[in-house]
Amino acid sequence: VNTTGKPDISREKSTELYEKSKAFFPGGVNSPVRAFKSVYGTPLFIAKGDGCHIWDADGNQFIDFCCSWGPLILGHNHPKVREKVTEVMQNGMSFGAPTALENELAELLLKNNKFIKKLRFVSSGTEAVMSAIRLARGYTKRDKILKFEGCYHGHSDSLLVKAGSGLVTFGETSSAGVPKSFADETIVVGLNDIAALDKAFEEFKDQIAAIIIEPVPANNGLLLQTKEYLQYLREICTKNGTLLIFDEVISGFRVGFEGAAGHYGIQPDIITYGKIIGGGLPVGCYGASVEIMGSISPDGPVYQAGTLSGNPVAMAAGIAQLTELLRMGFYRDLNNKTEEFTESIQRFATARNYKFKVFSIGSIFWFAYTDKETISSAEEIDPASMEKFKIMHRELLNRGIYLGPSGYEVGFISSAHTKVDLEKAKRAIFESLDLVFR
Ligand code: PLP
Repeated sequence: VNTTGKPDISREKSTELYEKSKAFFPGGVNSPVRAFKSVYGTPLFIAKGDGCHIWDADGNQFIDFCCSWGPLILGHNHPKVREKVTEVMQNGMSFGAPTALENELAELLLKNNKFIKKLRFVSSGTEAVMSAIRLARGYTKRDKILKFEGCYHGHSDSLLVKAGSGLVTFGETSSAGVPKSFADETIVVGLNDIAALDKAFEEFKDQIAAIIIEPVPANNGLLLQTKEYLQYLREICTKNGTLLIFDEVISGFRVGFEGAAGHYGIQPDIITYGKIIGGGLPVGCYGASVEIMGSISPDGPVYQAGTLSGNPVAMAAGIAQLTELLRMGFYRDLNNKTEEFTESIQRFATARNYKFKVFSIGSIFWFAYTDKETISSAEEIDPASMEKFKIMHRELLNRGIYLGPSGYEVGFISSAHTKVDLEKAKRAIFESLDLVFR
């Protein structure tokens, strides 16, 4: 029994399913953070989602701020997405041959996004980034890539690399199974640290194929960068014949239809997308200029392929979802709603002198248990603050609010979150904050 606030929700069925799943999957899950290792209790097994709500196997109902980690910008089970997917499925689910649906989704993307001119569909964000890195290496004929501490780009070998110690480091692998020789090709520097970046370019001049960054870093808290810093990346890349890759798997179609590139007005050389473009089904893509994409097989020497790439059912979900996003005022309404929500939570916390900040951009938000006005690099996050998140997470679940089970993860608001839902969520957040900080 939880004695700090409300009694804990029942997890009887979820626990039963978890016990069973442990025999099937490592840690009982198919993606590690789902195992609830950094929060209280066993993972909730989700049975159903509709609009902004999800229900677990025990019948507990939650307002969902995880939204499948971002893809569900229209909420769960959106009728337009469901109808289009159902319609397309009547004609078969995969051919491994071109379909008109791929053209349709590509046209929607390219006509409304001036930052890429050609693209290739893949089946996940990881695959999009992995392919973009290969493309950058093939195009520049260089091997090294530069990434930032605190940016996540999926689980491919070159990118599962964290900073070692020092200003500029060869990465250290952050997973067993990644050869050191791979990590040696990845340079890691801190975000928002121009001196480190300059030093890396001095040291590895003419060797760096690409800088890859989440222009809205949203996988290690929300580490918002300035436009000037992102512009500096653009300039240093141009000066050194290095490609700039924006990994927009989260920010793409989230901070606006043209993502962070549009938001900041910066033209990267390659952009990767995932999540939202699949409407909840597995899709990713990478895009660039016609010239750079000319390096991709079968036009060029960089090989990349996929049995389920451009899968018609996934394309259908993407078409339906992106069509909704292009409706007049979609982002204005969603972003305004988010701003109202986050500002009112901040006002509450500030009035009570809680060391608590809500950072947000577009319809992404992150709760930080800090009194810092800005946090723009991973090292500024106090790991001890995650204990507060742990209590918050439990109190929120007990009040019908679902956040992703890690304090380093951001929350997402969808167009399905109504004012009434957000008011309800705010009340639960206020009560929980009082418990966290009492
Ligand atoms: N890039 C970024 C910025 C991401 O946030 C993620 C996943 O969260 C990925 C890449 C990997 O995408 P996926 O999980 O679809 O492989």
